[in-house]
Amino acid sequence: MREVVIIGGGPAGYAAGIYCARAGLAPLLFTGKEMGGQIALTDTIDNYPGFADSVGGFDLSDQMRRQAERFGTEIVQDVVAKVRFTEQPFEVTTANGETHQAKSVIVAAGASYRRLGVPGEERLVGRGVSYCATCDGFFFKDQDVVVVGGGNSALDEAIFLTRIVKHVNIVHRRDELRADKILQNKAMATGKVSVIWDSVVTEIVGDEQVTGARLRNVKTQEERVIETPAVFIFIGFVPNTDLFKGQLDVDETGHLIVDSRQRTNIPGVFGAGDIHDSRYRQVATACGYGVMAALEAQRFLSGV
Ligand code: NAP
Repeated sequence: MREVVIIGGGPAGYAAGIYCARAGLAPLLFTGKEMGGQIALTDTIDNYPGFADSVGGFDLSDQMRRQAERFGTEIVQDVVAKVRFTEQPFEVTTANGETHQAKSVIVAAGASYRRLGVPGEERLVGRGVSYCATCDGFFFKDQDVVVVGGGNSALDEAIFLTRIVKHVNIVHRRDELRADKILQNKAMATGKVSVIWDSVVTEIVGDEQVTGARLRNVKTQEERVIETPAVFIFIGFVPNTDLFKGQLDVDETGHLIVDSRQRTNIPGVFGAGDIHDSRYRQVATACGYGVMAALEAQRFLSGV
């Protein structure tokens, strides 16, 4: 029987692990399929306090993991396939069928890339359709690529791509970017980024590999196919709450509902990070939520 099981190996989960382990709770943490969460796939992080110079996303996440392990967090790279929160002790079952019992659980399972949901997208993933510039940008050296989305992720990833590719065409559905001005300026200063305004991707074209993207101008309804070997999609995230629905309350956007003390509707189950936070979604805030969840789990376990 565990005092606490943590579901999720991103900043929120690792921060919770550090605090629970230092409180002597010997937490068991499941990372999911990949270790490190979204930041492990991010090239550089410039806004996490404590690093006067940039820090690599993978490095930062690796440091967090090792810090959690140093104090005794047991970290297992496995997917949680089933949970039972209806009675104590709670049960957490992994994809390989192992069931663990716990008195408290911190749910920090994060969020996944939102898909466009257009023809060709699913079929051509890994063959030109990508959700990670750091992982796949290399394959499109000196070529013209497309980035979809107008938020901070799209601009961040476009800037990263300019170091590898010839040109980045950002396709955005409005006539104004959502991204912070500093990122917009940085992208434009590269001289390798242009924006196709008021346009949506209606199809990703190609048989074996991506050869283009069909675009529709939402103002004129005009359609055209732009030739490209790669379409990078950064249009936000959807919270990973499917596993918990029916047991934990979620809002209309699918985010976990937690109170100001990270408590879910089930006493002893806490939420932390992108799984509940649709507002800030920063590495620093995810860590903060992880710390709060860990401190509340400690209080719950000691009955105060
Ligand atoms: P986001 O801020 O939600 O932006 C998503 C973008 O995709 C928006 O421009 C949106 O258009 C567009 N979009 C959404 N659904 C679409 C669809 N079906 N078709 C076409 N376009 C669509 O998501 P994000 O950029 O991934 O950022 C997530 C969070 O992480 C944000 O809070 C962000 O600030 C943070 N973040 C921060 C940094 C940084 O500080 N350097 C880096 C990355 C992410 P509209 O604008 O029209 O809604």
